[in-house]
Amino acid sequence: SRDAGLKLIREHALIDGKPVTGAAWIDVDDPATGEVMGRIPDLGAAETERAVAAATREFPAWSREDPHRRAAILRDWARLIDENTEALGALMAIENGKPFEEAKGEVAYANGFIKWFAGEAERLIGDTQDSPLGHTLVTFRQAIGPCALITPWNFPAAMLTRKLGPAFAAGCTAVVKPASQTPFTAIALVELAYRAGVPGGALNLVTGDAATIGGVLTASPDIRKLSFTGSTPVGRKLMEQSAPTLKRLSMELGGAAPLIVFADADLDHAAEETVKGKFRNSGQTCVCPNRVYVETPVAEAFAARLADRVAALKVGPAFETGVKVGPLIEPKALDKVRRHLDHVRSTGGRVLTGGEDHPLGGRFFQPTVTLGGEESLFREEETFGPLIPVFPFADEAEAIRLANGSEFGLASYLFTRDLDRAFRVGRAIEAGMCGVNTGLMSTAVAPFGGVKSSGYGREGSTHGIDEYVDIKTLTLALR
Ligand code: ADP
Repeated sequence: SRDAGLKLIREHALIDGKPVTGAAWIDVDDPATGEVMGRIPDLGAAETERAVAAATREFPAWSREDPHRRAAILRDWARLIDENTEALGALMAIENGKPFEEAKGEVAYANGFIKWFAGEAERLIGDTQDSPLGHTLVTFRQAIGPCALITPWNFPAAMLTRKLGPAFAAGCTAVVKPASQTPFTAIALVELAYRAGVPGGALNLVTGDAATIGGVLTASPDIRKLSFTGSTPVGRKLMEQSAPTLKRLSMELGGAAPLIVFADADLDHAAEETVKGKFRNSGQTCVCPNRVYVETPVAEAFAARLADRVAALKVGPAFETGVKVGPLIEPKALDKVRRHLDHVRSTGGRVLTGGEDHPLGGRFFQPTVTLGGEESLFREEETFGPLIPVFPFADEAEAIRLANGSEFGLASYLFTRDLDRAFRVGRAIEAGMCGVNTGLMSTAVAPFGGVKSSGYGREGSTHGIDEYVDIKTLTLALR
């Protein structure tokens, strides 16, 4: 099955439906071994401009295409992805390092967006209204225009389809820039989209230096919208760069998710769900619980349950059976985990399990649970690795204060059996999303997005397509 993934590696960008290579290359490695698995062209401004030109040229036809036809193309694309789940999952596991089973799960999750937005293409519904001027108003939801879509390495398939699904449903064309660590899954998905009937000009994929490509995409007056998933500093920079052309923006940025366990919660269930949420992609997701707050009377009991489960997680390369936690994406990612762990240790926290580099070496780190120490660091920095710091809290007011004491506001979680409290706290937390008694909430049908420095805009759900349409109003003086 690893071989099926290797066979999908294509060492080229795709502009206007055609493979493109260049003079320089960027190596792509397997995070489990550090071995170079392939390379991608290091393209620059000229190729990005060509991609923008293709997307701009194609826009009038693609946006005026019968939306039912675009829906049919999206469904064909989804069918091809379903048929190739094994190979796509294997390819993703190779370049990203996540366990093979989990990678296949992401392919299904990613495809959920295409299926969902195929339906949304058929529901581009406007409204009519009488105006006080005596006119009849008719609104249309029209495609914004050519879009730039910049995606990260942690969900190489889902972050792309979450943008392309609604973009195509609305009738937008796109220039995609995948992360250089994980470009091959994106390239494979684009090739399947062409096979399903997406016109070459409607979908372009450029690989290379992010700052150069991002600079051209944001400066272009033809690109009418930018959707970005990545870090907050890069998001801010892209916003600044987009100001002169007043682009519509969707910004899915970093998080520092709080997870609150009240004393009345089912502690076994809460521990189980915390593990599920935290160790997805080895702790490298923007919705991973970053700081766990437990009501003081149950803090020891909860942390012990958590440590037992975490100690049982099998760590290893993606294709080994039973592996639940893979390597981190880059060597420097381990430095951050070590620094965060040192912070807990040096401020009086205890390590309950893990706490060291993994015996496998390389980019593997032991899944770790700590209890106590100083917590404010975890409000401001995402660990993005397999460390769960647990901190006791005194009462509900303190839990809310700690949860909200962060610049970020993407995901949050709370565990309680008290329905009143679930609503009260769930609504008081400053975050775009709150999971109540669950550690996993991502699906194509749920609105995804943040508040504060986690960005704005919503992906997935009935709201997702709003990010890719403008309201056009016709005012009719009918006699
Ligand atoms: P991460 O921590 O997930 O790597 P980044 O924000 O660095 O977060 O990367 C997310 C995506 O943004 C990647 O595709 C990366 O190549 C791209 N990127 C990084 N820097 C820039 C930039 N200056 N302009 C445009 N895109 C960028």
